[in-house]
Amino acid sequence: MSPRTAALKDFSLKRGGGECDRLQNRTTAPAPAAQRRPSADICGVKVNIISLNGLLDDAMARVEQRSPGYIVTPNVDHVCLCAKDPGFKSAYDGAFLSVPDGVPLLWGGRLLGTPLAGRLNGTDLVYAICERAATEGRSVFLLGAAEGIPGQAAERLRSLYPELRIAGTHSPPMGFEKSAADNAKIIALLHAAKPDLCFVALGSPKQEIWMSQYSEESLVPLMVGIGASLDFIAGNKRRAPRVFQKAGLEWFWRLCTEPRRLWRRYLVDDMLFFVLLARQYMERFSAPGRTPDAVVELEGDDTAR
Ligand code: UDP
Repeated sequence: MSPRTAALKDFSLKRGGGECDRLQNRTTAPAPAAQRRPSADICGVKVNIISLNGLLDDAMARVEQRSPGYIVTPNVDHVCLCAKDPGFKSAYDGAFLSVPDGVPLLWGGRLLGTPLAGRLNGTDLVYAICERAATEGRSVFLLGAAEGIPGQAAERLRSLYPELRIAGTHSPPMGFEKSAADNAKIIALLHAAKPDLCFVALGSPKQEIWMSQYSEESLVPLMVGIGASLDFIAGNKRRAPRVFQKAGLEWFWRLCTEPRRLWRRYLVDDMLFFVLLARQYMERFSAPGRTPDAVVELEGDDTAR
């Protein structure tokens, strides 16, 4: 078992099964708007086919409804984790929207005959959502990353969107997920701040499992899992240049900047994605007469339900 999977197992077991199930079940009802959004199945993970404007509309509608939910931003790493870990997959399945953070998912969608609408990267989403939140008078809370980073990210966002209401920031200590007191503190902070949206920057699988367990209890209408985005926004880490992002090589940039931490993730664990994709392609197109065009038609009917 890899150290990440072991850590996830530990986290999944933190709450007794009954309570965890209860919390997860309470967060699985999708909003009507998101139900209408078509989706593609990429290696067993549901990915919505949605534009940035569509996502912003659905996000703000969700905030208006005041019914807690969360958005996940799948990349190759998340797809592999979903295949290996039922706890993570279940957290993923509870999301109200799932939007492609990683360019390889776009390749997968095209290969499988279910093209996605485009990449909606976590960091770009923070900027876009904050811009919309500022114009609609909605407030945001920044949760996660190392001490000082959420505050710096808040300053940067405030300088970009002066009307943006920052309801609060918090950097939980390392290992907080195993501490009932630390989790209670986060929930108390969120109850006091009453944000409309909360960006959760705890990395995967922690942030998705945390959102699935605490989204409802937090009473925050919408949470978004954003990985290392607060580091990028604060200027603590440098994001890959556009040319890398467009070519689907952001992972390579990150590997070069943090080789010790990320080599195993990108060069070993994530290879499973290509195996899963090849298997799904074979299953989908091995029947005579099934071409990508035929699949688009079939899935178009299915998602229109
Ligand atoms: N992080 C955190 N608490 C934790 C683990 C991680 O706040 O217990 C933060 C970490 O400081 C970083 C982000 O979560 O800002 C995770 O970054 P990573 O590169 O793993 O995320 P990715 O974008 O690859 O999902």
